[in-house]
Amino acid sequence: HHVQLSPEKLVQALCQADDVDAQMSQLVQLFELSESERRLRHLLVTLFQEVFSEFFPECAILPFGSSVNGFDIHGCDLDLFLDLEKTKTFQANAKEPQGAQAKEGAGPDSDSEDSILSDIDLTTATVPEVLELVAAVLRKCVPGVHSVQVVHSARRPVVKFCHKDSGLLGDISINNRLALCNTRFLQLCTEADERVRPLVYTLRYWAKQQALAGNRFGGGPLLNNYALTLLVLFFLQTRSPPALPTLAQLRELTEDKDQAIVDGWDCSFPQDMLRLEPSANTESLCSLLAEFFRVFGDHDFAGCVISLQEGRALPLPSFLLSEVGAKFKLGPFNVQDPFELSHNVAANVNEKIVQRFQHCCRDGAKYCRSLQYQRKSSKGKAWGLVRLFQPGVPEAEEVGPDGLLITIPFMLMALSPGSRQQLCQARDFRSCWFDKVCAAITFVLKDVLKCSCMGPAGEPLGQEPTEQSGGEQPRSDERGSLAVSPAKKRPRVEGPVPEEEESVSWNCAVWHRVWMGRRRVRRQLRHLGSPQPDTEQEAGSLEVEEKVSEAIIQQEGESLGAEPLLRFTACARVGGGQEDTRTLLYFTPAPQQGPLFQDFYHFLQGFLPRMVERYVGRAVWGRQ
Ligand code: ATP
Ligand code: MG
Repeated sequence: HHVQLSPEKLVQALCQADDVDAQMSQLVQLFELSESERRLRHLLVTLFQEVFSEFFPECAILPFGSSVNGFDIHGCDLDLFLDLEKTKTFQANAKEPQGAQAKEGAGPDSDSEDSILSDIDLTTATVPEVLELVAAVLRKCVPGVHSVQVVHSARRPVVKFCHKDSGLLGDISINNRLALCNTRFLQLCTEADERVRPLVYTLRYWAKQQALAGNRFGGGPLLNNYALTLLVLFFLQTRSPPALPTLAQLRELTEDKDQAIVDGWDCSFPQDMLRLEPSANTESLCSLLAEFFRVFGDHDFAGCVISLQEGRALPLPSFLLSEVGAKFKLGPFNVQDPFELSHNVAANVNEKIVQRFQHCCRDGAKYCRSLQYQRKSSKGKAWGLVRLFQPGVPEAEEVGPDGLLITIPFMLMALSPGSRQQLCQARDFRSCWFDKVCAAITFVLKDVLKCSCMGPAGEPLGQEPTEQSGGEQPRSDERGSLAVSPAKKRPRVEGPVPEEEESVSWNCAVWHRVWMGRRRVRRQLRHLGSPQPDTEQEAGSLEVEEKVSEAIIQQEGESLGAEPLLRFTACARVGGGQEDTRTLLYFTPAPQQGPLFQDFYHFLQGFLPRMVERYVGRAVWGRQ
């Protein structure tokens, strides 16, 4: 039995360390399996091997996952792979024509395996059938094991069990050979560089404390430990100079005996460290952690695919046109499995978690710049990792250097397959996407929310701003229905912005409280038998939302004042990174609008990205 480390003990131990590097190493020692825990696991594996060999001759029971990949923690589950390949061959041979009577009695234990193997043909049996059999063996023949249960629903069906004396939980799977490869790969990484373990332990614990990772029961929108670990390894591959080699580089070092193709994927990499050059990277743990937060606080997760194979973020368009890309389940967080290249290990992660992850990274980066992070407190205050592990207080709102910011992610999956294809093939797909998002923003502000908008210099609003247009004022009689389009500037004047950077701005006026009570109005419209009875969605279609605004305006009655409720400027730019596909929309309210604008802005934070998604989803993407 191992008593779990209490949070108080952890804080105490960490505060006593000398510096952040020491804290991170200490964390590994506090969390990793003890000798006796390892011994117990080893004994269990041996016991399972013995019992299963009786029923499945020549099978192998192979541990994988955190018990053996170098990222073990007290009480982590025991993942086992039951390899039945040789048993299949054995069974096939045993079924040879009856003439082979001579064989009888030659094989050991032929009685026991007959009884169970005669019930099933391993080459034709389905996975659930075999697992039921495995569960039966576990229940009846393995002492000290209880709560045996087949779980069919998981991505990989497994038999779950619990070891009575230790409380240890475990899984047995039968079709998960790739997991053996990635387990060995993670292990190799821990051997290649001694900074890998402290960094991964620290980030796993941080992510757990921030409720970003650690869904023990599978499923759910959180990052799993495997995906998070790959992200850390990727980060180390992309340092300059690199702290870890890429898989492509490892493959170069592979000898013939290390060649391996599993389920059609090339899993070749050296099985030991001897052929790896030590890395030239000398960054400290303390600064690597700070850099991790800085890098991923501003990473475009939706707009690229993190590839450990190549050690770089792959731009989506070319990736999606590739053979593996076509099968890849794209989401807001894209991490390619190092071997099964069409598998997104973070496909379960939702937009909200990505946003929180990035928010927490930015908070982490900010904290890491402070003295409380870098220096041990002489007064016994919490310092270094300790404060990083305290669950964060969400900030009221995100404020960028230019004002209030709404980030609109790349939403490729909102598009029809045809449009997706077209976009991916576009020569400058970033600017193509950006144009579409800007058109969507114009539509939402003008048509859906009935704001009046115009270009910054009062340009009347044709597709291209023209010479004659300067100086014209918005005409108040057209409020609520001004036909306008945004002004496009290129290049931007100030700031470290790439030459071709585009920005688009809108000068807007809001005349009605269109952000208030929308849900109620939506419900009323539904009762009146509006054409779209869309009951599940929180927000309706673009058409429904237009009607909602109109109803609100009608209910408010014509406002008498000639002045709008709010005035603001919105400015859209493409995200900062080279391949960044996000649209950053900065808001600058006119002076003295205070709380009213805050309300509107908070509403837009949720509403605008949803409406943009609807707009781009229905638009036809042909080249004009
Ligand atoms: P822990 O059990 O401490 O959370 P773990 O690495 O054992 O860590 P599990 O969820 O138990 O994580 O998964 C066991 C193994 O299964 C992983 O090490 C990995 O090899 C494989 N695996 C887990 N999740 C995925 C995934 N989403 N995609 C591909 N392989 C995965
Ligand atoms: Mg595990």
